[in-house]
Amino acid sequence: MSSNTPSRLPTLNRAAKSVLNTAKKRSINAAGKLKQSAASNTSRTPVVLKKDNTPSCSQRPGITPVARKPLSSVNVSGTSSIKTSTTLKRHTVSSSDSRTAVPAKRPKAPDTPAAENFEHKYEESIAEQERLNEKIASLEKQVENLQENIALKTREVNEKNDKVLELSTEVITASARLAASASQLQLLEAQQKATAALYQTALREIEELQKQSAQMEQMAMEAEVSRKQEMLVSNDRIRLLLNEVVDLRGRIRVVIRLRPFLPEDGPSTSVAHFGFPDLRSISVKSNNKSSTYQFQNVFGCNAGQQTIFDELKELVESVLHGYNVSIIAYGQTGSGKTFTMQGGDGEHAGIIPRAIEFMFETKKNLKNLEWQYDYSASFLEVYNDEVFDLLADDKTKLKVTVGSGQVEIPSLKSFCLNSPEDLYELLAISDKNRSTASTKMNSNSSRSHAVFLLKVTATNTMTNQSFSSLLSMVDLAGSERAKESEVEGERFKEMTHINKALSNLQNVIRALLKKEQHVPYRNSKLTLLLQECLGKGNSKTLMIVNLRPSASHISETKRSLEFAQNTSKTTIGAALKSETH
Ligand code: ADP
Repeated sequence: MSSNTPSRLPTLNRAAKSVLNTAKKRSINAAGKLKQSAASNTSRTPVVLKKDNTPSCSQRPGITPVARKPLSSVNVSGTSSIKTSTTLKRHTVSSSDSRTAVPAKRPKAPDTPAAENFEHKYEESIAEQERLNEKIASLEKQVENLQENIALKTREVNEKNDKVLELSTEVITASARLAASASQLQLLEAQQKATAALYQTALREIEELQKQSAQMEQMAMEAEVSRKQEMLVSNDRIRLLLNEVVDLRGRIRVVIRLRPFLPEDGPSTSVAHFGFPDLRSISVKSNNKSSTYQFQNVFGCNAGQQTIFDELKELVESVLHGYNVSIIAYGQTGSGKTFTMQGGDGEHAGIIPRAIEFMFETKKNLKNLEWQYDYSASFLEVYNDEVFDLLADDKTKLKVTVGSGQVEIPSLKSFCLNSPEDLYELLAISDKNRSTASTKMNSNSSRSHAVFLLKVTATNTMTNQSFSSLLSMVDLAGSERAKESEVEGERFKEMTHINKALSNLQNVIRALLKKEQHVPYRNSKLTLLLQECLGKGNSKTLMIVNLRPSASHISETKRSLEFAQNTSKTTIGAALKSETH
């Protein structure tokens, strides 16, 4: 049995053995008593056993005993493993026992009461022994069963013990794991606490940093506002100074542009009939006479589009400062007016696209000072003193109204410009409409005045300042004079209107320069339309007089210079005319 056998089993075993021993003792005692009794009785009276193992009262010693069942036949037949059974056998009365053995023919004992009594007792003891033997056998059987049971239970217990051992091992392993996990858990809890503490510290630091950041942001905002205010103040000063500079250079200025020779000008590219005494003067030789004219600037054949734009950029800037400005191209047909105003692609781009480009660039820069600029454009044509919309599909005359000094053309289309590219779409439309209209009227585009109007609306979100201003860029009709005798019908009408418009333009400029009370704006549609940008208020005007370079056009060139000179005669630093013979 395993050392793990429960103590209950030995107890059971012991109990069974004790019962067995008690039975044996009782059996031995009974046998002993019987022997003693037999011995004492034998000496006196031989015992005769009856066949049914009952002592016969009639038998007397010396009488041959009745054959009876030997005692050995009732021996306990316990398992050989039980020694007590063997021991018990030795104390069992057997037929071979010399002391109890009776002669085959025992003499019949005298039939006395004592003998009868003895026989009776003897039989009783035999019967008792048999009962005991049966009991012993039964007990031995029980013991055997119990032992089998014990063996079974022992096996079960062993199995259970093994299981318990296995489970105990598992429990020990699990306990060890649990202990390890518990210590890990403790470690993790400690780490968690440390992390939580760090997190709290970090949170406090973040809060502190956020506060500092908010304060710094506030300070930065305040600094930015005051910086912007300072910048706005200095920007306003710059605007005023720029305006003064522009005004000092002349609110009405005239510059000359001589275009380069082109193949259509003929083989000669000589410019001997021109002289350029200085940057502001030009002289023309004609009929052996040389006339010199002075203007604000004189640009020769090599002056590119950018050079021309640089001359008038400050005027475009003035528009962004709230002043109305007009830039007018004057000259005979083919002298380069359209090239100067619209130009071609890339470096050949004229004043209109360059001005728009510049305005969008400035708009971007002035955004830092909270200025918001919006641009909208219109393009109209004045032909025979009538106004037509160059951006409209239908060619109907537009009504011009003058109410409380303001000139309005209610039906004139106006397009928002969101980028410089938008302008090219408008120019393409106007080009198409202008040539279609010219064909319909059997006319020539050079017989009409093209007026590009750009309206600027500006607001400052920081200072709540706002204004609107107007930039008009005009490509005048050809100024050449056809011989009146050669012109009749429509051509005559056209010529009359052109002459009237141009001379009226001259008159308006003269009146402005002389600061006359009355300025004859209403004498022609052109001056009426341009009045806001032509002299009124603080408006500024630049006239570019374009000249053809060839000698064959010298008369018209001279006439243009005369016109320009007359126009700018009385300006500050005015053009001076001097003639030499
Ligand atoms: P206008 O409008 O006065 O009738 P254009 O602008 O049509 O004259 O010019 C006539 C021609 O001369 C056009 O072919 C034009 O490209 C060209 N041209 C005018 N000025 C210049 C210049 N500065 N450089 C090069 N070509 C010019």
